[in-house]
Amino acid sequence: MQKTPEDKQSLFKYLAELITQVSWRYGQFTAIGISASEYYSSEYLPAERDAPQDDHFPLAQLAIDLTNRFNCDCILVNHSQSAVMTEFQRSKNLTNETVLSATIGDSCGISFYNKMKNVHHSLCANWAHSTLPNFQWLVDGLTPICRCGNETCIEQFVSEKGIERQYHQVVLRDRTLSQIFDGVDEIDTHSTRIYRTFVDQLARSLIKPIQSLRPSLLILSGSASAYSSLRNDLKVALYRNNAASDLPVITQLPQDEFLFAYGASLIAIKNNNNHLRS
Ligand SMILES: [Zn+2]
Repeated sequence: MQKTPEDKQSLFKYLAELITQVSWRYGQFTAIGISASEYYSSEYLPAERDAPQDDHFPLAQLAIDLTNRFNCDCILVNHSQSAVMTEFQRSKNLTNETVLSATIGDSCGISFYNKMKNVHHSLCANWAHSTLPNFQWLVDGLTPICRCGNETCIEQFVSEKGIERQYHQVVLRDRTLSQIFDGVDEIDTHSTRIYRTFVDQLARSLIKPIQSLRPSLLILSGSASAYSSLRNDLKVALYRNNAASDLPVITQLPQDEFLFAYGASLIAIKNNNNHLRS
């Protein structure tokens, strides 16, 4: 696991070197797709640090810089969009579906697709850094200040770090997310308690997007979606919170570090083809 360089220049240099190495090995390419976590492409980042303005992302500029440097289309998408593309590629019968994609991992985000077209919606733009619905400190516990500057953001509960933080807060010991998921299988009391709370928090977080957007399919991706029966457990929790309306079919994407890169490359290839035709 490589840490993302913290400033724009280092990140550009790192990516440019990586792309150059790849082109030496595999030859000239026609499109570059980059999948970034929702947070890095969001509006929140500029408020995060006291660094000079030049050091701030947004990553959109990075895509423009890479396009100029390598003289080919570079597109930047976020993880929840990449996950949708992977699922569209895998399952060809989704062309007419309404799809909500939720990524819960290092960072969180949702995006919505209607007939394979991304639909921008205010609910999706601020989802991860909006307040956890029905937050109750006795049940959910207090949070430190989020990297966006608020408190009790959805991401602080349903991300990988969020679940690990809650475990630490309740049990006063550290466990990684995969150890917590293993603990659920081993019927470890603490792990099970944290997992159940997480599933309920995820259900509460997704009810509003589900009720407003009425997706026929919900795609879960990211490390916090890795527990095998999350799909079923989430469905039960959604029913408990929201018995009135139809619920989407829920899919968990396989946990694969190439998932987001693959999805981003599919979008880049598609865009590039359109570009060549036009
Ligand atoms: Zn936040």
